[in-house]
Amino acid sequence: MIERTPDPAKECSPRRGVERTGNPPSRIPVRRVGAGAIIDPYDFPSVSTSKRHVSEALSMPKVLFLDYSRGVEILPGIERLCSESGILKAISRGDSVAVKVHMGELGNVTYIRPAFVRKVVDLVNKRGGRPFVTDTVTLYPGARDTAKKYLATAAYNGFVKESVGAPVVIADGGGDEGRAVAVSNAVSGCSLREIEVARGIWEADYLLVLSHVKGHMISGFGGAVKNLGMGCVTRRSKRDQHRANPALLDDPRCDGCGSCVQACPARALSMRDGRPQRDPEKCDHCGTCLFTCSRNALFWERENKERFQVYLAHAAAAVSSRFGEKIGFINFVQDVTPHCDCAAPAGRPLFPDIGILASTDPVAIDKASLDLVDKAHLMAADKRLSGPDKLGRYHDVDSLVQLRTAQELGMGRLEYTLRIL
Ligand code: SF4
Ligand code: SF4
Repeated sequence: MIERTPDPAKECSPRRGVERTGNPPSRIPVRRVGAGAIIDPYDFPSVSTSKRHVSEALSMPKVLFLDYSRGVEILPGIERLCSESGILKAISRGDSVAVKVHMGELGNVTYIRPAFVRKVVDLVNKRGGRPFVTDTVTLYPGARDTAKKYLATAAYNGFVKESVGAPVVIADGGGDEGRAVAVSNAVSGCSLREIEVARGIWEADYLLVLSHVKGHMISGFGGAVKNLGMGCVTRRSKRDQHRANPALLDDPRCDGCGSCVQACPARALSMRDGRPQRDPEKCDHCGTCLFTCSRNALFWERENKERFQVYLAHAAAAVSSRFGEKIGFINFVQDVTPHCDCAAPAGRPLFPDIGILASTDPVAIDKASLDLVDKAHLMAADKRLSGPDKLGRYHDVDSLVQLRTAQELGMGRLEYTLRIL
């Protein structure tokens, strides 16, 4: 039988040292996190009536927001975002600049548009940087699980040198080319000791992280922190993080059909007493068994999904530590689908397109993106989507765990000031 508790990762508890709520999302204190009050995105700069409030606001990370509802032109808007947020300032002439972007699974159509990437590439060129557009291969079997297949899928989706204006490079080669970076365990009992940053990214002088904000089955949502922690690492490091969240068996639902055993690409499953048995040493945590089961007998448990986010934040912190100040973030909050860009299809967008954000702080930009999503008008009626943390609610997980952990690790702050362009 597939175990009900995570064996390799059981020593890692998000409860140790990291504020994590086990409460349902409706009770998550979204408006107050940590010691300070969050500045309501749409209240700034009206906070100027209090001197203390002003000084707090000035010390907070800045997030620039290109608000689509104001009828802005997007490509010039991206230029203003980059210029006024200062995210490209740390690029020196001659710097190699990794423009990290998810180029979409084959069949997915809601990834970041190549034209937006082209605009960013042009701006990097203007500053004298040497940009390349990059991503890493997938853990799961599919159309992006080798560099060759990924480049073919990227071309199908519109990511070629002629469109994005820079070479398209798969940063981890066949999935295993990386450089080890130590993981800080200062915050929780996360068992990760090191993360392999994809070689092509590790060797860059500057990392510019372009993230599509959307839902995610395990982490609730994906943004800058997820793009760093999962998107910039080798296949081995992706697997090490996913170990925190193994597929579990809901025994009464299983009819012993064996389809999951047949589908497992790692031959990690076998039938025993009419039930699938997983070999944790062989399992790559690709999720294929879970998606194969037509009876929904395999599932991810909420507590483990939140444990996964603790791992994710540790990996993200390790990746960002490689770059210090030479890192910047742009979040595209549009086509906010329930599922991520690895999914084909990813589902109908849940909200109208919101806009684009830029910041040097990955935690602040993700929190600002989530706050904007929470304020947005829902296009699809779904009772899971009322109240705060709508994307987390959709996937039955507290999606702020990754951000709280990242803040505790010193990656950035949940409090921010938002300037609307
Ligand atoms: S595919 Fe589902 S129902 Fe069939 S053996 Fe696997 S878990 Fe059980
Ligand atoms: S057991 Fe499931 S998650 Fe593990 S490798 Fe096989 S299909 Fe993938």
